[in-house]
Amino acid sequence: MSKLQTWPFFHRTKNAHHVLTEPGNGKDPLVEIEDIIDFIEEGDVITEFKTSSQMMNEWDVDESLQLTIYNWAYEKLYGRPPVALKVIDFVKSRKPKLITLETKRDPTSYKRLFGLVSHVLNGIRQRIFFPRVGFWCKDCEYSGPCQSWQGN
Ligand code: SF4
Repeated sequence: MSKLQTWPFFHRTKNAHHVLTEPGNGKDPLVEIEDIIDFIEEGDVITEFKTSSQMMNEWDVDESLQLTIYNWAYEKLYGRPPVALKVIDFVKSRKPKLITLETKRDPTSYKRLFGLVSHVLNGIRQRIFFPRVGFWCKDCEYSGPCQSWQGN
């Protein structure tokens, strides 16, 4: 068994979903992730197009879990890791600009990803929920009870 197979893995379902499953248990999904990789350039380069109001930087792409998941899914689906992960960011500032950032992932990135997924999943299974406030709150149907939440 290769080292990578000791970690949860993605596979393509008949609906082309990417499924992250627990090691040794290919039937029960650990978590299902549906997403579409924007573009795969020749030479195994994954390209993601973004639109942002603030310019993205190296840290953003190095820490992006989305890109780690894409890297992993690509490796599992095509049998080789992508050569690079590229983000093309259209910055909607007063002077709009287009910036390109590149990053890479390795097996330690996967270890971090699956550690995070496992901890979040454990929290959900134990019904540990707490507010995580951000721009996404503006459309949340739970904002009323969430704002009155006092930690119990
Ligand atoms: S308002 Fe909704 S999205 Fe925001 S922290 Fe509360 S539950 Fe989460």
